[in-house]
Amino acid sequence: MLDCNFSTFIMTLPDNCKDFSQKDTITFSLPVKPHECPKCHNITSRVHDYRRQKIKTSAENLCHRIFIYRRRRYRCPHCKKVFSENQSFMGKYQQIPYSDIKDIIKAHEEVEPTSKIARRFCISPTTVQRIFNMINPAISKLDKAISLDEFHGNAGAKFQVVLNSLTQHKCLNVFSDRSSETLYQEINKAYPITERLKVEHVSIDLSPFFKRLVKDCFPNAQIAADHFHVVRMANDALESVRKEVQANLTTKQRKYFKHSRWLLLKREKDLDSEDYQALQVLLNFSDKLSAAHAMKEQYFKLFDNKNIVEFNKKLLLFKMAAEKQDIPVFNKLLRTTLKWKKEIIHGITTGLNNGFTEGCNTIIKTIKRVSFGYKKFNIFKKRIIFILNSEDRRLRRNTCHVKAVGA
Ligand SMILES: [Zn+2]
Repeated sequence: MLDCNFSTFIMTLPDNCKDFSQKDTITFSLPVKPHECPKCHNITSRVHDYRRQKIKTSAENLCHRIFIYRRRRYRCPHCKKVFSENQSFMGKYQQIPYSDIKDIIKAHEEVEPTSKIARRFCISPTTVQRIFNMINPAISKLDKAISLDEFHGNAGAKFQVVLNSLTQHKCLNVFSDRSSETLYQEINKAYPITERLKVEHVSIDLSPFFKRLVKDCFPNAQIAADHFHVVRMANDALESVRKEVQANLTTKQRKYFKHSRWLLLKREKDLDSEDYQALQVLLNFSDKLSAAHAMKEQYFKLFDNKNIVEFNKKLLLFKMAAEKQDIPVFNKLLRTTLKWKKEIIHGITTGLNNGFTEGCNTIIKTIKRVSFGYKKFNIFKKRIIFILNSEDRRLRRNTCHVKAVGA
C-alpha cells in the first residue's frame, strides 16, 4: 500500500506520465514496467490496452479537479493472458485512493457529522458511511477495574450501556440495550467467564439493577459506588427543598431565588465573602432551607478525605442531624447512603469513580446530536468506540490534564 499522500504521489510521477492539456483534468498513467504474468509467471512489458478510470480525491490542492487514471493492461506473449498493472495508490474496484480513505476514516475521530466529512472530501455521505463501515475498531479485553453506565440511547433501545476501563481510560464496549435480558446476554457473549472473573472492581451509579448485574456477571468484583453520583443526590435533595420554599414566595423573590441557586449548591468553603453574604440572605428566608443547606454541606464533608474511620464518624453525625431535622428528602438520602455504605466506602478507598465515564457520556451525547441519529446501532457503536479511543484525543486529554495539574 502507498504510504504517501495521493497528491505527493502524482507530483513524483515522471512528466511524460501526466497530461495537463485539458482544463481541470489531469490524466496520468504509471511508467511501463516489467510485470510477472499471473498465470505462467513469465516476465513481460508488452502493453495490451488502457482503461480510463475516474479517481475521486480531496488531496490537498487537488480537490475539484478530475483525475483520470489510464490503467494499463499487459498481455503475456507466452500464454496470452491479459492482466492489469500493479499499482499501490488505490484498492482494486475502488475509486478513492488509499491515502484519502485513511484521511476519511481518521476524520471520524472528531465529533462531526457525516455530511460535513463528505463535503470536505468531495464525496457523498453514503460513500463516507460505506468507508467508515469497512473498519472494525477492536473490542478490547476486560480490565481489572471497569465502569458500567447507561446513557440515553440511539438507533434502537431507549437506554444503552457503555463499559469503560478505569485504569486505561478507554471505552471497552457498548451494549445495545439496558434491558436485563439483552444486557446479560451481550456481556456473557462478549466475555467468557474466565475473563469476567478477572474483574476486581466495577464502578456504577446507585442502581440496584447494575448491582445485581455485577454480582451475576463479575462474581469476583467489588462494587465502587460513584461518588459524583452520591453527592449529586445531596444537591438534588437540597434543590427539592429550595423549590418547595420558593413556591411560597412572591414572583420577584422567586426569580431571585432561582438565579441564586448556585450559591446554595456550591460548597460553602469555596464562596468568596461577597457570595457568602448573599448566601446568608437566601438562607434567612427559611429555617427549613437553612437546615437543608447545612445538611448538604455536612454530607459533602463525608467525601473530603479517604479515611474510613472519619467517614463513619461523619456519617453518624449526619444520621443524627437527619433524624433531628426530619426532612423527607434527606431521610431518603440517609437511607440510600446506609444501603450503599459498603460500595461508597469502596469507591472512597480505591478512588474509583465514573468521572471518566461521565465525560464519555457527554461525548456520546454530542455524537448523537451531530449524527442526527444513526439508524444502525452497530455503526453508532463503532463511532463511539472510535472517537472515545482515538489516540489523538487521548493525547489531547492528557495534555490538558498535565496543563491543569501544572497550572
Ligand atoms: Zn503468461
